[in-house]
Amino acid sequence: MDVSSLKNLLVIEDNIGDARLVKEILRDTEYDNYELTFVHDLDELKEFSKSKFQVILLDLHISDIEPTTTFNRVNRLFQSTPIIILTGLKDDELAAKIVRQGAQDYLVKGTFDSDTLQRSIKYAIYRKASEKRLAKQKITSRRFKDRADNFESESIRLTSINKSKDVFLSIASHQLRTPASVVKQYIGLFLDGFAGEIDDKQKKYLKTAFDSNERQLQIINDLLRVAKLDAGHVTLRRVPVDLVSLMQNILEDHNVILSTRKHTVEFSHDETKVVANIDENNIRMVFENLLDNANKYSDEGALVRVEVEQKGRWVFVRVIDSGIGITKEDQAKLFQKFSRIDDSFTYAPNGSGLGLYWAKEIVKLHGGDIHLESIKGTGSTFEIKLPH
Ligand code: ADP
Repeated sequence: MDVSSLKNLLVIEDNIGDARLVKEILRDTEYDNYELTFVHDLDELKEFSKSKFQVILLDLHISDIEPTTTFNRVNRLFQSTPIIILTGLKDDELAAKIVRQGAQDYLVKGTFDSDTLQRSIKYAIYRKASEKRLAKQKITSRRFKDRADNFESESIRLTSINKSKDVFLSIASHQLRTPASVVKQYIGLFLDGFAGEIDDKQKKYLKTAFDSNERQLQIINDLLRVAKLDAGHVTLRRVPVDLVSLMQNILEDHNVILSTRKHTVEFSHDETKVVANIDENNIRMVFENLLDNANKYSDEGALVRVEVEQKGRWVFVRVIDSGIGITKEDQAKLFQKFSRIDDSFTYAPNGSGLGLYWAKEIVKLHGGDIHLESIKGTGSTFEIKLPH
């Protein structure tokens, strides 16, 4: 440390002789150009309460005040200033006690010279600065710790909310599905004539009930699938599957629905067989979901194209429709849970907004992705990319 850096110091000493001695010793140090302030009793200190000193030399025995009280009063008034105690010969124990309370050092009057004083001042300033730095670091690290604790408890809270939500969804869906399935079976029995002859009017009413129940079951199934996925309970059973014949099979199954709305489907594939290592059940549901959407969100008589292509280590499956299309802004939201675009309500009022979220997560579990390109009013291309 630069010794010439002493700018000012305060000496609190009620004995004129001792004060003069300190002044003499200071003069013999290497310090130069410093401002020296002498105070002879504690009451005088008040007028310096706003002053900043670099170091204080404090005689412990001022007037008849108890030494620790003297130190505490000065220390309180000049909290950030290092204090060196000046003691009498027999005050070793007392001096050590006061150093423990926060004084930087102590010097026994009549035994120290200019070198000792200079060294003491230098290290008192240095130690006080280190203490301040340490205190600051402690506050900062305590703040970090508090913040980390907050994050941890917040994350525990959110995880638990999320878990309760998953449990709620799963229980609610299971409890809803069983009675809804029973309703379906009994309406089916009526429709098939197992409960006796029914006339056309009764049949019409029962058919409406059957269709509504079917939609209800579809939504319950969507909720169940997503609850299972979010709870991490989806395990893929991957086997090599030919995507061309899988898609042909799906299209045959969907033929009735597609033709009801007079849609034309064109299926193209560059190879006769395109094999990928997939969980067939789950990927089948992904393809079906995209086909259903192409069907739902297109006007009657529209063209739907399906492509299967192999490129290097990837296979691509595209479902291309000429339907209502999706704006850029909405495209960003589509793969989130419960996300539906306003104008799709007129096309399919009963959608759950869960299909695309589920589909994307399932494809991602396979190491692939779903990509969407769409122009509002023109149509959409959903491209599934899967590892070969
Ligand atoms: P759902 O169809 O049950 O609402 P999805 O998750 O499958 O749920 O789709 C979410 C939303 O994305 C739909 O509600 C619709 O607004 C939009 N969407 C999906 N596919 C298409 C498509 N081919 N054309 C236009 N909009 C679509």
